[in-house]
Parts: sequence; structure tokens; C-alpha cells
Amino acid sequence: MTTTETPPAPVLSGRRSTLLDFSDVALRFPNGTVALQGVDLTVDRGEFVTVVGPSGCGKSTLLRIASGLETASEGDADVDTDRIGYVFQDATLLPWRSILDNVELLAELNGMPKAERAVRAREAIDLVGLSGFEKNLPKQLSGGMKMRASLARSLTLDPELFLFDEPFGALDEITRERLNDELLRLFVEKGFAGLFITHSVSEAVYLSTRVIVMSGRPGRIVGEFDVPFPMPRDPEIRFTAEFAELVGEVSHALREGHH
Ligand code: ADP
Repeated sequence: MTTTETPPAPVLSGRRSTLLDFSDVALRFPNGTVALQGVDLTVDRGEFVTVVGPSGCGKSTLLRIASGLETASEGDADVDTDRIGYVFQDATLLPWRSILDNVELLAELNGMPKAERAVRAREAIDLVGLSGFEKNLPKQLSGGMKMRASLARSLTLDPELFLFDEPFGALDEITRERLNDELLRLFVEKGFAGLFITHSVSEAVYLSTRVIVMSGRPGRIVGEFDVPFPMPRDPEIRFTAEFAELVGEVSHALREGHH
């Protein structure tokens, strides 16, 4: 009888699956305000992680650390990619530039050759459904359309990790729901990982593969929920009992963590 050796573990084409790995992260501002404490958080490829928490608990600070705009005062905050997209609460478009020129901006700042960035910008504009508005100025667009332009601007860099700081918070509900669906379509199509911040529990559950609940300041993680609904997500799941039940559980954890 020949002994069979255990076959070697398959090599996953050299790509690590964890893109963001925070371990025991704390942040204390120079004025003494402690924004975050003991935060353990990972985001793997293929995940869309949403963070919900009360106002001022440190959610934006968490994203700022992930993007390198802020440095953790304690713990390890590892991010394993340079290709990071960042969409803010405000679309931050330059008012004097056309939509096309705004969408090209990040690629331009990154030194991408003009011909290539023009192609990428037009592709991104098409992806977010803004074709036909390339020559318009931001003030001629609705709030939802400005957000689409902001998304397109980040998409030109083909991010592996996409950070979203309450991007749809200021929009009406119908527009927000439509943009949620568009974002999920992009997530499935482009394959980036997402880290998304919101106040809305139903938005969190609808968008994500995992929901993280933070306590009031200093922000700590007080709950974590896997979202079992498959991607691409059927908009109708919003009206199911399973969806309502999960929204209820997350809301409960949020209230508990607020005390
Ligand atoms: P959230 O996004 O959850 O509303 P933030 O991350 O913006 O919260 O802020 C967390 C806390 O840290 C808040 O209380 C805020 O006032 C405070 N904070 C934010 N930036 C600074 C800063 N540069 N210096 C001092 N305190 C800050």
C-alpha cells in the first residue's frame, strides 16, 4: 500500500482576501476626545460591510483612518490596497467644471494620460447612468445625479476597496432606494469591496453582506450581523418578514449600544 500525502493547499492566485484589517484600533484627538476604542474590523474581497451607529460615535473617523487621512493612536490599521475609492456625504464636485471634467479629476490628479482618462470617465459616466450629461455643470443636476457623478469619479480609478461616508443621507427616499440598487449593481459588476456608513438601519441591511453596529462615543463595536440575502439583491426583499426581522435585530443592538 502506498502512502498518500495530503495535497498542498491551493494557492489563491497570490491575492490576499482581506483588504482591511483593523485590530484594537483607538483614536484620541489632540483635544482629548476619544473617537474610537478597541475596534476590530475586517473587510474581505467580496464583502460589503455597513457600519451603523449614533451621530458622533466615530464612523467618519473610522473611514478616515481606512483612507489614511487620519492615523490610529493605538492598534493596527492595515489596508492591503492602494486602490481606494472614497465617496463623501457631499458630492464635492467643482462647480466650474463640466460633469465630464469633474469625473476625470481623480484620474487627472493621478497622472493618467488624457486619452485614457477620457475613455475611463465616459465608461464610468455610462455605468452610473449619466450619459448625455457630460457637458452639464453640477448646478444643472439634481442631488442624486451629483452623487452619481461623485461615484463615477471614484470608479475611474477602479477601486478594490470603496469607502462610503453616508453618501445618500441627504437624498429623498425614492432617490436613495434607486441609488442603493445602482450601487449594488456596481458592487456585483465591478467586484470592489465596500465599507459603507449610514444612519439608516434598513439601508444597511439592504446593501450589505455584513452589518456592524457601533456604540455611542467612544465608538466600539457592539454588534455584528451577517446578512443572508443573496446578491444580486432582489428589491422586493425589503418587504419580506425576514428582512423586517433583521432590521429589528440591528435596531435593537443599536438602541442597547446607545446607553
Ligand atoms: P460620526 O461620523 O459617527 O458622526 P465622527 O467620526 O465624525 O462621528 O466624530 C467622532 C467624534 O470625534 C465626534 O464627537 C466629533 O466631534 C469628534 N471629532 C471629529 N474630528 C475631530 C477633531 N479633529 N478633533 C477633535 N474631535 C473631533
